This record gives sequence, C-alpha cells and structure tokens, in this order.
Amino acid sequence: MPSYDPNNIFTKILRGELPCYKVYEDDKALAFLDIMPRSPGHTLVLPKAPVRNILDASADDLAHVMTVAQKVAKGAIKAFAADGITIQQFNESAGGQVVFHLHVHVIPRKAGAPMKPPASEKEKPDVLAENAKKLVAAIAAD
Ligand code: AMP
Repeated sequence: MPSYDPNNIFTKILRGELPCYKVYEDDKALAFLDIMPRSPGHTLVLPKAPVRNILDASADDLAHVMTVAQKVAKGAIKAFAADGITIQQFNESAGGQVVFHLHVHVIPRKAGAPMKPPASEKEKPDVLAENAKKLVAAIAAD
C-alpha cells in the first residue's frame, strides 16, 4: 500500500491551511461538510492522526471515528429531519477512495430521495454555512 501523503487536501484542512465547514471537533477527530454533498448535511468524519484509510488505521482511531460518525448521524436526523443515514467509507482507488486521508461519509437520507451522484455539484457557500450551523446546534443539543 502507498505511504501516507502529508499534503493531501484533508491534511491541509486538519492543519488549518484550507477552510472547511466544521461541524464537530475533539482532540482525535474532525468532522466537516462535504462541499459536493450527495444530500443536504453530507458530512465527513476524519481522525486527526495521519491515517491513509482503514488498512493502516489503529483500532482506537477507527473506533473513535465511528463514535463521532454516530454523533453526527444523530445530529443530522434532527437538523435535517432525515428519515435515515447512509454511512460510506472507501479504501484505495480500487475501493473508490479519492482523498487519501481516512474519512467516513455520513449522509442524511429522506425516504424516497435518491443520493446525488458522487462529486456531481459543488454546493453554494451560503447553503453549506447554514447547514453547518444547523448541524452544530443539533450535535450540541444531544
Ligand atoms: P472519497 O475519497 O471517494 O471518499 O471522496 C472524497 C470526498 O471528499 C468527496 O465526496 C468530495 O466531494 C469531498 N471533498 C473533496 N474536497 C473537499 C473539500 N475541500 N472539503 C470538503 N469535502 C471535500
């Protein structure tokens, strides 16, 4: 497996060199909105550790990322009146991974509404800012 690239786009976000629409942060994980959401509120949860994907992650990082994904999922149900949540996580190019820092997709779903195709449309900044605000408030209230 290739080694971890410290200049991938998510590491730059983790270092604060690029902006994000943050919805949750603790000492081991960061969650922010996907800028090309497959549904409103689509969030990515990352470990802060330099981890490429599930194949080099520690059990602790994996467990923590999933714990945060659950927190985000519960918040998203409330914030977006979602009927369900789809969780996705891709590993290596053959597995559909595009950005090589481990991340879990948390995708709020409405009954009968299909997800948009991956990376199909960049969402407007004001919509992302509003959705981040809603999700932050819902997570904090949990
Ligand atoms: P994948 O590696 O297949 O899970 O895909 C990477 C995901 O990151 C896609 O859903 C992109 O829309 C998303 N993405 C790429 N760049 C950014 C960014 N700067 N901020 C937030 N999401 C991003």
